[in-house]
Amino acid sequence: MVDRVGIVGGGVIGLQAARTLAKKEVSVTLFEAGDLGGRASGRAAGLCYDAYADPRDASIAADSLSYFRDHDLLTDCPYLWFAREDDETADAIDAQAARIADHGRDVEHLDGPAVAKRFPRLVAEDIETAAVAHNAGYIDPEAYVDHLTDRVRTAGVDVRTDAEATVTEDGDVRGDGSVREFDAVLVAAGAGTAATLPTRDLALGLYRTQALVAGPVDGDIPMYYDASTERYARPLEGGVLAGDGSEMYDGDASTYDGTTDEQFLTTRLAGLAERLQTDVELDRSWSGLCTATPDRDPLLGHLDSEVYVATGMCGHGLMRSPVLGQAIAEQILGGDPVDGFDPNRFDGTESVALPVGVTE
Ligand SMILES: Cc1cc2nc3c(=O)[nH]c(=O)nc-3n(C[C@H](O)[C@H](O)[C@H](O)COP(=O)(O)OP(=O)(O)OC[C@H]3O[C@@H](n4cnc5c(N)ncnc54)[C@H](O)[C@@H]3O)c2cc1C
Repeated sequence: MVDRVGIVGGGVIGLQAARTLAKKEVSVTLFEAGDLGGRASGRAAGLCYDAYADPRDASIAADSLSYFRDHDLLTDCPYLWFAREDDETADAIDAQAARIADHGRDVEHLDGPAVAKRFPRLVAEDIETAAVAHNAGYIDPEAYVDHLTDRVRTAGVDVRTDAEATVTEDGDVRGDGSVREFDAVLVAAGAGTAATLPTRDLALGLYRTQALVAGPVDGDIPMYYDASTERYARPLEGGVLAGDGSEMYDGDASTYDGTTDEQFLTTRLAGLAERLQTDVELDRSWSGLCTATPDRDPLLGHLDSEVYVATGMCGHGLMRSPVLGQAIAEQILGGDPVDGFDPNRFDGTESVALPVGVTE
């Protein structure tokens, strides 16, 4: 019988799990080292779509989109991804779009001229092949964190902020001035997961990813991902939010400073000016740490004794959090694990690479 659950980590995964458990009358204590949503969750770009090649992932993403729509958090917007001429990712996009459409997702293949016609605001001369997902949109991560914060507090979760915690070998939570025993403990600490579980070996890597907001941009643009340069952008308040500039990170996650590189800003602003045929000025920029696994699937499930883990979202944690937070909460209460996400499928010695590229 699980009556009391301790959760370490108040990002969107920990908050969704806390909300689900508290709604089922479980007593939940949530330990957050800083502010709720203050790490990757609050820094996300907010892109959401169900265009995944794997039917399981597509279904998780589609159900999460429904959650965002049901709670008025989503702005619908098509998601376009494309490869430039003479780029080998072009074949991968064609194959991927066909696979996604095969399992019933609303995705269509476009060539360069069709992109130009459909999205006149984008320069499309250099685009060889593209696909567009219609079940897509963006959310404001801060509004989503506020929404979850309201819900966990209303549901009676004991929320402790500025409360860094670790999980002992016995599965107790040391934090906020005491060591506490729970029926189950969930570690959803994002980039801080390894430090929270100092006695366990997890196949988890960290990478840093950057974003900026620039403008002005007139007219409608879709959300887009240029697979040839691995950069994305989406509309934001008369301008654009754009990323990526990712690289593996092996420093201390707890002291990560959230800054951006000059080179990222220069190349990204130049890329936007080219694609949108307008000069844009930088408004603000930031970066955050994401978690990655060897096979690009999350580590989500039972780890050992009373300890569960939910991390390794490979840059897609925000858009899948409604379903994955709920799934781990249900597993803690005796439900089935999500197929393929068992955290013990690795022994912790595997190497982890940067999870970018169209084959994701
Ligand atoms: C620039 C950027 C853009 C992104 N864009 C997108 C996007 O468009 N779409 C998308 O789906 N995803 C996106 N992501 C990824 C997304 O943000 C993450 O996958 C998601 O937020 C992960 O949520 P989480 O709850 O697992 O982790 P986090 O949000 O990192 O939450 C973990 C929490 O645990 C806390 N914590 C850590 N250690 C401890 C400890 N020892 N004790 C107590 N608390 C602790 C941290 O303070 C943190 O608040 C982006 C990320 C970045 C950085």
